Amino acid sequence: MDKKAICLGELLIDFVSTLNGVTLRDAPGFEKAPGGAPANVAVGLSKLGIETYFIGKIGKDAFGDFLRMTLDKNGVKTDYLTSTTKAKTTLAFVSLTEEGERDFVFYRDPGADMLLDQSDIIDSIFSGSGVFHFGSITMTHEPSNSATFKAIQLARKYGYLVSFDPNLRPALWKTLDEAREKMRLGIELSDVVKLNEEEAMFIAEANTIEEAIQYLQRSYNLALVIITLGKEGSILIHQEKSLRVEGFPVHAVDTTGAGDGFVAGLISSLYMFWNDLRERKPIPDDTLRYAGRRANAVGALTTLKKGAIPALPTQEEVEIFIEE
Ligand code: ADP
Repeated sequence: MDKKAICLGELLIDFVSTLNGVTLRDAPGFEKAPGGAPANVAVGLSKLGIETYFIGKIGKDAFGDFLRMTLDKNGVKTDYLTSTTKAKTTLAFVSLTEEGERDFVFYRDPGADMLLDQSDIIDSIFSGSGVFHFGSITMTHEPSNSATFKAIQLARKYGYLVSFDPNLRPALWKTLDEAREKMRLGIELSDVVKLNEEEAMFIAEANTIEEAIQYLQRSYNLALVIITLGKEGSILIHQEKSLRVEGFPVHAVDTTGAGDGFVAGLISSLYMFWNDLRERKPIPDDTLRYAGRRANAVGALTTLKKGAIPALPTQEEVEIFIEE
């Protein structure tokens, strides 16, 4: 394979409660799980056979070393992962409902991942061709906001397909209007955008999914928009079409990273079409359905174990699961 994926953004450690259905205060213990949405996508892509690089920042501490080792072990290239003494590696504490839905608090004041700055983003990162994926958490503060936008501009300049998953975390923004405005800007600069239902309604200021779909089709010239619907699956919106793809029934333990696994599954399935998407060429329905089904499979498999990175499946696991 000569094309590569580059993911940029937050990288942190989740301490996940060992018991579902209790508050953080009542958690009997915690398991250490490396995460951060774009880092999860990077590992997902690497496990699915794509050459993948990660751009981010860790603290010069034991948790940072652990994160670098985790990316290395999963085959993600860490040449552009820098470290700092000015902040500690970001940590989060996570509690889960019985159904595996998460609630969390951050230890980030700021965390090292938010100190990514423009000098970390160099042209040579974007040699060759491929896909660039980013999220919105690094857009909440400086200097990582400017670093993120510099990377988006370079990715576009060098002809990369640009993929965006806002991953809305309302508590991290000063105001919701600022969050909406930044997310809209991120969408305008992207080719492929993945939203969950809540994000689609928020960005479109819509009351129904149909209204949100119309807004997204009318307001942007995107190659592909995906709205994920949790266990119900996903909707793929391409040009004037929207295709509904059913999810896989599984017994979810922890839904952390399902959306990130989904993105990795989708992008890797469209490997042969990255250039066509960038050029806004029509993609056949069968190809889109195949990509949506495989992305749903990766999302579903990611819910079967605690944490995101440890739960992301390999190519072989996905094939076996789809055939069952
Ligand atoms: P996000 O994690 O970004 O909020 P979703 O919760 O919609 O996104 O999950 C992303 C995808 O992961 C879904 O489209 C679906 O394919 C899969 N998924 C998520 N939760 C489940 C579940 N409980 N059972 C089966 N598949 C799931």
